Amino acid sequence: MAETRHTKVLIVGSGPAGYTAGVYAARAMLSPILVQGIEPGGQLTTTTEVENYPSFVEVQGPELMMKMEEHARAMGTEVIGDIITELDTSKRPFTAKGDSGTIYTADAVILATGARAKWLGLDSEEAYKGFGVSACATCDGFFYRGQEIVVVGGGNTAVEEALFLTNFASKVTLIHRRDELRAEKILQDRLFKNEKIETLWFHELEEVVGEDNPKGVTGVKVKHTETGEISEIPAKGVFIAIGHAPANELVKDVLELHNGGYVKVTPGTTETSIPGIFAAGDLTDHKYRQAVTSAGMGCMAALDAERFLAEQE
Ligand code: FAD
Ligand code: NAP
Repeated sequence: MAETRHTKVLIVGSGPAGYTAGVYAARAMLSPILVQGIEPGGQLTTTTEVENYPSFVEVQGPELMMKMEEHARAMGTEVIGDIITELDTSKRPFTAKGDSGTIYTADAVILATGARAKWLGLDSEEAYKGFGVSACATCDGFFYRGQEIVVVGGGNTAVEEALFLTNFASKVTLIHRRDELRAEKILQDRLFKNEKIETLWFHELEEVVGEDNPKGVTGVKVKHTETGEISEIPAKGVFIAIGHAPANELVKDVLELHNGGYVKVTPGTTETSIPGIFAAGDLTDHKYRQAVTSAGMGCMAALDAERFLAEQE
């Protein structure tokens, strides 16, 4: 029979928002349960150096997330390796189903499910995913030692991935649809100074080109956004870095969303459209999407949950 666990506060997600909520909820004596999801530690486990998390001049993303997990556990958060597959918000206590079969009931829920990489949606991109097409340079860059690589996008992720990939690649071409990057100036400076990186402005990826035996990428067809001219670039690796979409699957039909799927909260709080359900981090933040802002919102969510529970008593 499925095990049922009751908690005052269920935290869904183990990124900076989830673990910080864990630290604060545990210190408020709420004995929180935190369910980690498919990516324990969240997005920062897919990167290398983090240079903008206060108190660390430089720290590796996975190390930072291990420290956050340790901190949440040390304060008394029960951290569980499970994935929430369903959340019933229609009555209290709220009920969440775990992929393990465990049922979690909770007086309040903090959603901190973050965001996931977006894809272009091309058939050829799908066909070569895992065979040369990737959305994670730190995971897959090592496979392209001495090879030519293309990166698509113009934000912080694209620029960081391009820079990181120069550790392995003989050449990196950054393909961007405009002639201006969205990335921070400090990253742009590093990009433009790096002799291994060429930037291809006003171009979009049209098709990933490859062969089947052995299956792998050989290049990309790109299209000029103004002239429509198609050209081909040789490449063994194609890294798509065009942003992230909020992981709202559990609540997209029940909570108010805005700005393309981000969970809407009352400004200045983490309160969602359902009392007792709180949202923090990239799931609710289309604007800043940083580790430190997510951690800040995790803190707010735990304090909001504590107040909500006190009012119920
Ligand atoms: P996430 O980190 O996205 O974590 C979401 C968590 O939710 C995961 O643990 C996942 O397993 C869990 N989850 C999802 N669905 C479920 C479910 N159904 N059940 C249970 N759990 C679930 N920010 C910076 O400040 N500095 C940087 O240098 C920096 N570098 C970055 C580099 C890369 C490559 C990327 C992609 C992002 C970077 N960011 C950086 C942004 C930063 O990682 C995010 O802003 C931050 O991780 C968001 O934290 P979060 O807690 O909201 O969610
Ligand atoms: P982002 O900032 O949303 O940038 C996405 C980029 O991809 C944009 O340049 C966009 O082009 C381009 N793009 C989007 N859709 C496209 C499409 N269909 N075809 C071609 N290009 C497309 O996403 P991100 O870079 O992943 O960053 C997400 C968040 O994480 C940001 O808040 C960022 O600051 C944060 N982050 C921070 C760090 C850091 O602090 N070091 C590192 C990584 C990420 P346009 O510019 O033309 O719109």
